[in-house]
Amino acid sequence: MTEWKKYWNEEMETLSSEEYFKVQKRALLRELNYVWQKSRFYQEKFGREGIELGDIKEIDDLEKLPFTEKHEIRESLNVAPPLGKHASVDIGNVIRVYSTSGTTGNPTYIGLTFHDRDVWRETAMRAMWACGMRPRHIVPLPIGTFFIAASYGEAIENLGSTLIPVGVGATDRLIGAVKNLGANFILSTTSFPLYLITYCQKKGIDPKTLGVRGFMVGGEPGGGIPHIRQKIEDAYGANVQECMGNGDMLGLMWAECEYKNGMHFVGQGACHPEIIDPTTGDVLEVKEGLKGELVYTSIDRECQPLIRFRTRDHVVVTQTTCECGRTGYCIKCIGRTDDMLIVSGVNVYPSAIRDVVGTLVPKVTGEILIQLVEPPPSVQPPMKIKVEHGQDPGDLRSLKNEIGKLLREKLIFNSDVELVPPGTLPKYEYKAKLVDKDYET
Ligand SMILES: [Zn+2]
Repeated sequence: MTEWKKYWNEEMETLSSEEYFKVQKRALLRELNYVWQKSRFYQEKFGREGIELGDIKEIDDLEKLPFTEKHEIRESLNVAPPLGKHASVDIGNVIRVYSTSGTTGNPTYIGLTFHDRDVWRETAMRAMWACGMRPRHIVPLPIGTFFIAASYGEAIENLGSTLIPVGVGATDRLIGAVKNLGANFILSTTSFPLYLITYCQKKGIDPKTLGVRGFMVGGEPGGGIPHIRQKIEDAYGANVQECMGNGDMLGLMWAECEYKNGMHFVGQGACHPEIIDPTTGDVLEVKEGLKGELVYTSIDRECQPLIRFRTRDHVVVTQTTCECGRTGYCIKCIGRTDDMLIVSGVNVYPSAIRDVVGTLVPKVTGEILIQLVEPPPSVQPPMKIKVEHGQDPGDLRSLKNEIGKLLREKLIFNSDVELVPPGTLPKYEYKAKLVDKDYET
């Protein structure tokens, strides 16, 4: 068997803490200089606050700069289409434009220059290598070509693996790629392998016979949730590792290594992440167990650099050192502010509910659907939740009580659980929907 190198980019992925801050600082100061000269958006924003370039000399000085909110980017795109006032190059220098899936309102357009494309590709390859992708792998990519995730395609090629673009909604084509071309490693949303299990069952195919050896999943919380990972690994006899990027910032910059205890930061030199208290905005010190919101600063971006961009992604730091030797700290995504529900003053993420209910597999299948009767985030208890019971759930009455008790203990809210037969809740090919809106909008 070929002995592969351990890291895609050993130098960047194993920097000591001191070297890391040196690399980040050098890149940050260069980027800020660029932003001050080229970004109309930041010239105005920083000008309004009376901030001067010379105020920022160290990484810690970043705290002096205001956050950039998603709505500001949307406004910037509206007043200066197509790429916004935060675009720092002419469209002539842009080689590719992606759009985000646009869950709220219009899509956001993301432009890349040649240089940006190379930076995105580099960090994506670090992430893919960490997740176990190797040149021997044949990799179908079931992702729409206009989304950021399509940029992973050329990282797969550049890494030496074989790319098979498949697209969304073409599961037969994907099965064909697996059977005819020997595809054995799939990069997709977390929902996709779950969807594919059901799909195979309907077609009378045992997922294990497909020969898929690895899944690299992302795009939504889930891949790091134990019962979901277990379900996929058992069904296919394959390994599952999780990754994460951010459409506005960098295609991929977090990835689990073979020890699977959270996703390492692998975007050294391209992005500078901070973790803040989402209420006060204070920067928090990274240590094991820390929870907070991710904030990103571009430190090597030409087209649309963003400074202190609030992601609304809430994460927990799972470890700061790892046996694999990567020095980027590890996180798991807990949920997004936009998805957060508030029950009697307590913050609850739909993905956390799925996580807790899933600990009862096989009495339940792990599938849930929250039924909101009024617009979020406030929910009057008891929260109505449909839960699929397993094939052999035992007494349904006591299972319902057990779920209610568990949710009360772990997430501190009262629920009204309705048990439904396995396979009755909708399955999603692209991204899971955990909340159903049962009210007039
Ligand atoms: Zn590791």
